[in-house]
Amino acid sequence: MAGNLEDYRALGGVAFALVRDRSGTTQVTLKKGVADPVWFTLFGELPRESIVEVDGVVRRSEKSNRGVELFPSAVRVVSRSEVPLPLGVVDKVGADLDTRLDHRVLDLRKPAVRAVFELRGSVLAGFRRAFVERGFLEVETPKLLRQGAEGGATLFAVEYFDQRAFLAQSPQLYKQMLMGAGFERVFEIAPAFRAEPSDTIRHITEFTSLDAEMAYIEGAEDLRATLDSVVRDALGSAKKELTERGHPLAEKIPDLPRPFPRIPFETAEEWLGRPGAELDFGTEDEKTIGARAEAEYGSPFYFLVDYPTAVKLHTFYAWRDDANPRKTGYFDLGFHGIEIASGGPREHRIEKLTENMLAGGFDPKNFPGYLEAFRFGMPPHGGWGLGIDRIVWMLTGLSNIRETRLFPRDRYRLDP
Ligand code: ATP
Repeated sequence: MAGNLEDYRALGGVAFALVRDRSGTTQVTLKKGVADPVWFTLFGELPRESIVEVDGVVRRSEKSNRGVELFPSAVRVVSRSEVPLPLGVVDKVGADLDTRLDHRVLDLRKPAVRAVFELRGSVLAGFRRAFVERGFLEVETPKLLRQGAEGGATLFAVEYFDQRAFLAQSPQLYKQMLMGAGFERVFEIAPAFRAEPSDTIRHITEFTSLDAEMAYIEGAEDLRATLDSVVRDALGSAKKELTERGHPLAEKIPDLPRPFPRIPFETAEEWLGRPGAELDFGTEDEKTIGARAEAEYGSPFYFLVDYPTAVKLHTFYAWRDDANPRKTGYFDLGFHGIEIASGGPREHRIEKLTENMLAGGFDPKNFPGYLEAFRFGMPPHGGWGLGIDRIVWMLTGLSNIRETRLFPRDRYRLDP
C-alpha cells in the first residue's frame, strides 16, 4: 500500500506506523528482531504526512482499528513532507474555517472533509440519473456572455480582447433558446458566477447551478411535479448508493416518501404577519417559513408558489398571469428554511416578453440573439435553477456553504 504517514509510535519491542490512503488508515507493525532496523529510524525521523509505500503481509488483528495490521517486507519513502504543517490533518482541535480554506489541500485530506465531496458526488450522479430517466438532454451553454440575465448588480465583467464580456450568472437565456431550437427537455450542471457584495454564509461568487428547462408545459405545476420527483429520486438514489457503501454521511439524506407541500406566497405572508405586503422574503423570513412548513407538513422541503409580479419585476422572462397580471407562476423550493431553487413558467410571447423587459429596466436591443429565438416559433416552456452547493450544505448541516466547495470563491478569496 501507499499513503500518508499519519503517526508513528515506538514502544520498546514494537513500533506502529499509521498510514492513510483514501480507503482509511492502516496500522503497519514493526517488531524488533523481525523488521529491518533501518525502518525504525526511517519512520522515526520521517515527518507526518509524508508519503510512504509499504509492502508486506496483512494479518487479522483484534487490536487495530481496521481489524488488520500490515507486517512490512519493504518500506520506501515516496515524498517527504515539509515541517511544520500549516494545518494538522489528524489534530483533535479544529482550526477556524479561514485557516482550513487557506490550506485546503491539507484540509481535504481529513476523511470527514472528503466525505462531504463523496456525498456531493453521489447527489450529482443521482440528479444526472433522474434527468436522463425523464428524457432530459445534458447540455453546456456559454459562460462568457455579452449580457447577463439576473440584473447588473451581480455581474462580473471580464476583458474580452477589445470588448467587455460578463461571466454567466445563470444559463437562463441559453436554456430558453434551446427550447426555441426544439430540444424540449434540457438540463445543465455548471458553474454560475455572481458578484455577491455581501459576505454571508449562504452566498459564494462561484456556485454550481443545476438548471432545467421543459417545453410544452401547461403551467407551473408541470414544472413543480418534475422538480419534486427529480429531487426525491436523486436524493433517494444517492442515499441508497451511500448506504450500500457504508458511507458515514448516508444517514444525512432524509427519506422523502411524499411530494413536497405547495405553500401559496400569500399564506407565507400571513405566517409572517404581513398579509399582502408583496415583499421578497429575507433570510429570517425564510427560516420562519421553513420551520412552520416543517411543523405543519412534516417535510424539510416545501414549495412557495405564485410569487407576485412585484417581487419578480426584474425577472423579465417570468410569465405573468394574463387573468391577474399581479401574479407570476414563479415558485421557490426551500429546504430547512433556505431557498435552494427558483423557477417557473416563462413568457414565450415576444410582445409580452419585450414589455416585461422594459418594465424591469432592460433594453430589448441588448438581447438580439435571445429575442431571435422567440421570433420564429417558440413553444410554451419553463424551468428552474437549483443551487447544488445549497442542497449539499443543508444535507450535511455544515456551518457555512463554503465548506461544500473544494476551493470556494468569495469576495475576499481567490486563492487557493
Ligand atoms: P438568494 O435570494 O438566496 O440570493 P437568488 O434569488 O439570487 O438567491 P436565483 O437567481 O433564483 O437566486 O438562483 C437560483 C438558485 O441558485 C438559488 O435558489 C440558489 O440555490 C442558487 N444561488 C444563487 N445565488 C447563489 C450564490 N451566490 N451562492 C450560492 N448559491 C446561489
